[in-house]
Amino acid sequence: MLAEIRGLNEECGVFGIWGHEKAAELTYYGLHALQHRGQEGAGVVTTNGHELKLHKGQGLVNDVFKRVDFSKLSGHAAIGHVRYATQGDRTIDNVQPLLFRSQAGSMALAHNGNIMNAYKLRGELEDAGSILQTSSDTEVLAHLIKRNGTLDSLEAIKDALRQLVGAYAFILLKENKMHVALDPRGLRPLSIGRLGDAYVVASETCAFDIIGATYEREVLPGELLTFTDMGVESTRFDQQEKRALCAMEYVYFSRPDSDLNHVNVHASRKRMGIELAKESPVEADVVTGVPDSSISAAIGYAEQSGIPYEIGLIKNRYTGRTFIQPSQELRELGVKMKLSPVRGIVEGKRVIMIDDSIVRGTTSKRIVRMLKDAGAKEVHVRIASPAITNPCYYGIDMSTKQELIAANYSIEEMCQLIGADSVAYLSSEGLEKAIVTEDTINQGVCMACMTGTYPVTESGQLEISYTKC
Ligand code: AMP
Ligand code: SF4
Repeated sequence: MLAEIRGLNEECGVFGIWGHEKAAELTYYGLHALQHRGQEGAGVVTTNGHELKLHKGQGLVNDVFKRVDFSKLSGHAAIGHVRYATQGDRTIDNVQPLLFRSQAGSMALAHNGNIMNAYKLRGELEDAGSILQTSSDTEVLAHLIKRNGTLDSLEAIKDALRQLVGAYAFILLKENKMHVALDPRGLRPLSIGRLGDAYVVASETCAFDIIGATYEREVLPGELLTFTDMGVESTRFDQQEKRALCAMEYVYFSRPDSDLNHVNVHASRKRMGIELAKESPVEADVVTGVPDSSISAAIGYAEQSGIPYEIGLIKNRYTGRTFIQPSQELRELGVKMKLSPVRGIVEGKRVIMIDDSIVRGTTSKRIVRMLKDAGAKEVHVRIASPAITNPCYYGIDMSTKQELIAANYSIEEMCQLIGADSVAYLSSEGLEKAIVTEDTINQGVCMACMTGTYPVTESGQLEISYTKC
């Protein structure tokens, strides 16, 4: 059970809109823009002021809403969710938003992150008489709010949020209100935008662009916002601490056109490439990047080194993410299906292959072999982030320590294992430099999976390896 709870809600995307007559359709488009954050399930809940209506399903946003008559999801506000799932929790019950009905009213919840003390809280709730319907940590918040008072009490929500330990970006919808909350360290991204008179909230700003909304500001760490027909009110449920926004959002997860805490993702990746070229130069003929997430860093590396950037690898757009394949064998096959080398570019060349990160090492090993089979004379692997040596407890599926290649092998051993001519990582200083700019507000980044310094801890939690079923 512990594994189940802790394996949930990873890499999800949340969206909310208040004050627009086409709330459900706009949420659908917003979820489209957030699709890269989760492909296992999607859902929308709307309110018309009296009643919450839910539509959710398993699969991609397009599939889930293929036959939906949006006039049946009418309302002036909506929240939505796209979900990434690990094996073992792929049930419709866990697809969000979760909808709770009670005599005191209804509430829908969409969450991105991980509640580290969910297991403990579930136990306490069950001992006090609650019956939980899902294996999701998100459900805990609903029960805590209800236990603390009526669904309408702001104090009950604040008190419930204070009991949570971990990383969370929450959107709650009730008949006549929408609440938005971010954890006290701001580990997960969450921004506010405007569309005419309507307010929009999303995990990434790319969801604003798709609907023509403009960016307004970040949700602050420890902030609780309430949207009603009277406008928006902000309050704190916790003191604002220095933000610890997930560095992996910049490295890999977020879309390059999104701005996180005022920093554009593509621009930060390019700076990672520039720093990497300064730190780990090597003589070569071409620089290439693993599509799509490493292209920006490869452009930066090429620019800094003066070595031309070339498209040495092509992505087949019609296969899923290799990472979500359940077994190692399938994952390896997945990499082959996903990428092809451009022989005319790499044949006889010394190639610098930029990847954004190495987790298990499967991708790099396959790609190095692919490039060499296509005639590359040398393949130098340059990774645009520091080595991932620790699990993530904040909602990113980062594998167990045993599976993390960098946690178990030295650089020389890894180089041999993946068959490269050389391997080098970006330093944590280089990564921080690429992310934290003068534009970032209250910035600090979490790099715990690379440095082992965790911004939020829960007793006993760090000893337990992150279980992916
Ligand atoms: P691996 O084969 O396990 O080393 O996978 C590394 C690749 O997966 C990198 O090239 C990243 O683009 C991508 N990646 C890194 N972290 C994650 C994650 N937590 N979930 C999904 N994909 C990831
Ligand atoms: Fe992101 Fe790594 Fe921190 Fe997890 S541990 S929140 S993946 S930087």
